[in-house]
Amino acid sequence: MTRFIFITGGVVSSLGKGLASAALGSLLQARGYKVRLRKLDPYINVDPGTMSPYQHGEVYVTDDGAETDLDLGHYERYTGVPARQSDNITTGRIYQNVIAKERRGAYLGSTVQVIPHVTDEIKAFVRSDVDDNDFVLVEIGGTVGDIEGLPFLEAIRQLGNELGRERALYIHLTLVPFLGAAGEIKTKPTQHSVKELLAIGIQPDILLCRCDRPIPDGERRKIALFCNVRNEAVIPAEDVSSIYHVPLAYRREGLDRQVLSHFGLDHETPPDLTRWQEIAKKVDAPEGEVTIAVVGKYVALLDAYKSLAEALTHGGFANNVKVNLEWVDSEVFENGDDAVQRLEGVDGILVPGGFGERGAEGKIEAATFARTHNIPYFGICFGMQMAVIEAARNLAGIDNANSTEFGPAEEPVVGLLTEWVRGNLTETRGEDDDKGGTMRLGAYPCQMAPDSQVAEIYGATAIEERHRHRYEVNINYLKRLEESGLRFSGLSPDGELPEIVELPGHPWFIGVQFHPELKSKPFDPHPLFASFIAAAVAQSRLV
Ligand code: GLN
Repeated sequence: MTRFIFITGGVVSSLGKGLASAALGSLLQARGYKVRLRKLDPYINVDPGTMSPYQHGEVYVTDDGAETDLDLGHYERYTGVPARQSDNITTGRIYQNVIAKERRGAYLGSTVQVIPHVTDEIKAFVRSDVDDNDFVLVEIGGTVGDIEGLPFLEAIRQLGNELGRERALYIHLTLVPFLGAAGEIKTKPTQHSVKELLAIGIQPDILLCRCDRPIPDGERRKIALFCNVRNEAVIPAEDVSSIYHVPLAYRREGLDRQVLSHFGLDHETPPDLTRWQEIAKKVDAPEGEVTIAVVGKYVALLDAYKSLAEALTHGGFANNVKVNLEWVDSEVFENGDDAVQRLEGVDGILVPGGFGERGAEGKIEAATFARTHNIPYFGICFGMQMAVIEAARNLAGIDNANSTEFGPAEEPVVGLLTEWVRGNLTETRGEDDDKGGTMRLGAYPCQMAPDSQVAEIYGATAIEERHRHRYEVNINYLKRLEESGLRFSGLSPDGELPEIVELPGHPWFIGVQFHPELKSKPFDPHPLFASFIAAAVAQSRLV
């Protein structure tokens, strides 16, 4: 029997609902249950793929090629369950489906309305594709009170009614602030937020209360009384020093116990939290530290590189070191700052994924600096493309090497991907195609040369990694670039698309066309990140 847990948020945004959902998922998993997590996003974009990272943070990509909310990254990192296309939906997609049905005549003459047609579509989505999961955790994006969230809240209200109390549970995440001037913790925002939920017919079963200090018993009782939940179901979610402490913290506060007792399931047998205890130990007692410069364009918003920052941390876990990140805006090199000033002394340089011309020359300069100073360099997607342009210009002497992403190029070392193979199909694209959902997306296989550095790092010659790109290193330049020293050590199985480059003779210089950060887990660090951080540790011993 699949049970549904709905997670809503109140008072303010950014309380970490995604993380809370992921951590609860991991706790249920630690009790042997099969979980799935999904997210309902109230905005009107069909998916976040066309949004600026500054609007929405990172776009997370699933194996099956969906461009999704970054919370799906948390879900995967905490549970190891690969997310799918069916785990994230937006208002835009719901309406797209409803309107397509209306055009087909599927509503048989009815007036199409939010209730029941839109809510039915949402409910069908929530219940679809759930296999034999014991629990499906459904996070509702936004904050209670948002106009655009209403159809989603109405749909989960109806679902609770249809499934019955034994198969549905509502958790509301709120903020319990401390007011310095009054010297007190305040419960009123939580009361108001629950009132708002009650007005639309949802009585939360559990309140997860974000706070920066312990919530005294009296306040906890007050919240329970006014919000109509049991005392034990008011769970403090106090700030912790690392996101990887959250599952253990929730366990201490009894969140999993409350959830299981709601469903009448055994909550006496303790969960197996060894995995999280080991991670907590690594977080708390690293044996050293390294500093990695991340040279990108969206460095002012760390959510833009969420999975990347986590994967680097995981690489640290694999080497028992703390990884300090120095975020460098690639434009500083174009505005007069010298790479030497900004990058000297770092133990590794990473150029992440990116789009557009702004800051691109700075990334190329960062690659030059890493190459010529023997500093470990990791280029991901755009970071690989820029490293190849760098090598083309400075090793192969192709002075006008560039990417057609920035306009017509005399030497298109990186060019638009117009055709590629996916399974048994050939995908084609043109300059003027729609921008949404048309990149080369999701998991694709890559073959590596057996004697390459990457094959050794992976301990394999065939891998699958997730992609999200519209441009690609031009295979026609392979020979000239290889003659100048850059090795194309990984290619698509048909040999058409360069997937990995490396620079033999350099301590660690690797560029990958895919996004390995999307598959890294705290309990299973990605081999490339583990190896990159190992190289950074070696580098730190040199200086
Ligand atoms: N802008 C580049 C492309 O579309 C790189 C994309 C990325 O880094 N994700 O190919």
